[in-house]
Amino acid sequence: MLDLSTLNPPQREAVMTTEGPLLVLAGAGSGKTRVIAHRVAYLLVQGVDPEQVLAVTFTNKAAGEMRERVAALAGPPGVDVFVSTFHSFGLWLLQQEHEAAGLPRRFAICDAGDQLALVKRCMREVSVDDRKFDAHRVLSLLSRAKNAGKKRIVPREAGQGDDYDLVAAEVYPRYEKALRAMRSVDFDDLIARPVAMLAHDPALRARCQERFRYLLVDEYQDTNAAQLELLKLLAGERRNVCAVGDDDQAIYGWRGAEVKNILRFERHFPGAKEVRLEQNYRSTGHILACANAVIAKNAARKAKALFTAGEAGEPVRVVAMSEEEDEARFVAEEIARQRGEGRPWSHFAVLFRLNALSRPFEEAFREGSMPYKVHGGPAFFDRSEVRDLLAYLKLCVQPEDDVSLSRVVNVPPRGIGDTSMERVHDWAIPRKLHLLEAMRRAAEIPDLPRGAAEKIGAFVALVDRFQARFREGPVSEAARALVAEVDLFSHVRAGVQSLEAGSRRVDALEGLLRSLDGYVQRTARPSLATWLQRLALDSREEEDPSGEGGITLMTLHAAKGLEFPVVFLVGVEEDYLPCAGIQGEARDLDEERRLAYVGITRARERLYLTRVAARSKRGKLLPRTPSRFLDDLPPAAHEKVDPAALAAPPQDVAAHTESVMAALRARLGGR
Ligand code: ATP
Ligand code: MG
Repeated sequence: MLDLSTLNPPQREAVMTTEGPLLVLAGAGSGKTRVIAHRVAYLLVQGVDPEQVLAVTFTNKAAGEMRERVAALAGPPGVDVFVSTFHSFGLWLLQQEHEAAGLPRRFAICDAGDQLALVKRCMREVSVDDRKFDAHRVLSLLSRAKNAGKKRIVPREAGQGDDYDLVAAEVYPRYEKALRAMRSVDFDDLIARPVAMLAHDPALRARCQERFRYLLVDEYQDTNAAQLELLKLLAGERRNVCAVGDDDQAIYGWRGAEVKNILRFERHFPGAKEVRLEQNYRSTGHILACANAVIAKNAARKAKALFTAGEAGEPVRVVAMSEEEDEARFVAEEIARQRGEGRPWSHFAVLFRLNALSRPFEEAFREGSMPYKVHGGPAFFDRSEVRDLLAYLKLCVQPEDDVSLSRVVNVPPRGIGDTSMERVHDWAIPRKLHLLEAMRRAAEIPDLPRGAAEKIGAFVALVDRFQARFREGPVSEAARALVAEVDLFSHVRAGVQSLEAGSRRVDALEGLLRSLDGYVQRTARPSLATWLQRLALDSREEEDPSGEGGITLMTLHAAKGLEFPVVFLVGVEEDYLPCAGIQGEARDLDEERRLAYVGITRARERLYLTRVAARSKRGKLLPRTPSRFLDDLPPAAHEKVDPAALAAPPQDVAAHTESVMAALRARLGGR
């Protein structure tokens, strides 16, 4: 039920301002997301047709939660509100308009791994060695160009730009052409193509503007130029855009997000009203004091006051240990101890700047049989066995998918080597055929190694057979049959040294198959293509679909918008937080500080900041320096804790006190 009296006055004002552009710019935990949910519900109560409301969240997970909150507040009509990420919305629009976009009805989405494979292939085509040029960096240049709406990359004048510009300029058109030939799109296309279609097709634009009359966007500080463009095109003259965000939490600059979108909201949506929220409802006073002190050091920010009416709570604990194993053991023991006090596992989160920090914690939790779930890696979707199975499935859905075909054509080894595939490739290109088609005509291809044509024929037959099977359903059974037929389990087991590593790979495949089972059970008319699309979108959040609940392990980037009663922010050391530059990019200290702010503000009741004196890297133990951010914590709000002292369970203290008292009573009574 919708009850606006549960909101504070500025929140209520934001909820009830239903017409015209509105910006809610406010610090962490001040109820921005809550305002979005209530505002959607309020619109429905006012009689707005739920289909006319589009609420955009930053992740698919957040979209799911928002849908539930809206349904709880507004009742059944809440279910029909369009809640999604920018990418899912773009996917929906492209599906609606697939003919105009020149795409099949259920086109494939290249995920990050596919994109990288495609970039590497294009680099090879222009004779650029991917050992000399980092394909990730080339891909990120392509992505930036596409997000900026550029059809070409023009390298800067000689001497000014670097060689990467030149490579990217060469690769970009080939990459685009290859995507088109595969009748696939990449992530950036999910925004860029709808933007182009809306911009060039007034009728489509009018239809969309008519349908989506109320637009709401959470985490607005992390939108990029293309997303802003999409929003403007949808909003039209009506400009019914409500954006909420916090410039202090802009942490996706490295991915092309533009914090100036939020700082210049009024310029993009003239006549905008601005509401500030200043009360934090999430964290204790001490936690908030630490967060405020850390972010205050950033120069270029809109100053924000943030206070809490709640209690000061326990001081934030800063814990220094000698090595990473100690840090992991400490966290595991603390969690076990507090669990003994009646907290469920889900109350705890371990947050880190880089995925690389996660491993010792996973080991400690496994050792203690503590349930945990890793979000954000070591990415499930980067695992080679997972990519193999996905490639098989994709190929069965979309025979044009050359990237997937190239991946699995010889997995497990079936005698179709690189030389054969190069011949097929060279023959296919001038004939404008995709690889599977060319392989179908293997007999016509000259110079194929002996026996290859036959093996190629068998592979084509396999794909044909399973394509039909997936079309006719049931898809879960078909997927398992495919795994059995190509004997994928034995193959992934054979590829590694230890038995344990082998069974982990099998588990990963099982996890993927289980996730397909789950989708089939939940869905009225399941299709493999739709599941693969969903998975591609989820893979961006790097959510391991096979994981169980429990303690949350995640990167700071993934933790945005979430809250946990107890948070361990680990590895609070120079070069981790703030992080040294990644992949040759210069680091952005301001963004690192914002990441620390995001991490601290995830905690509701208890916060630990841990660090170690030395960490092993490639077999060497390297000394570590405490993070400069620790110097900014207000003395009254934090305490330095000796891990040994904390580990003494409080029950013992109580028992000890009790026995002393008993002895005292006995003595006194005896008198
Ligand atoms: P972030 O910047 O981290 O995304 P946010 O501004 O979106 O935070 P919310 O997640 O909406 O903040 O709210 C933070 C917490 O405060 C939630 O637990 C929410 O239920 C609670 N909260 C927000 N507003 C109120 C209110 N008026 N009364 C009681 N609790 C509130
Ligand atoms: Mg939020």
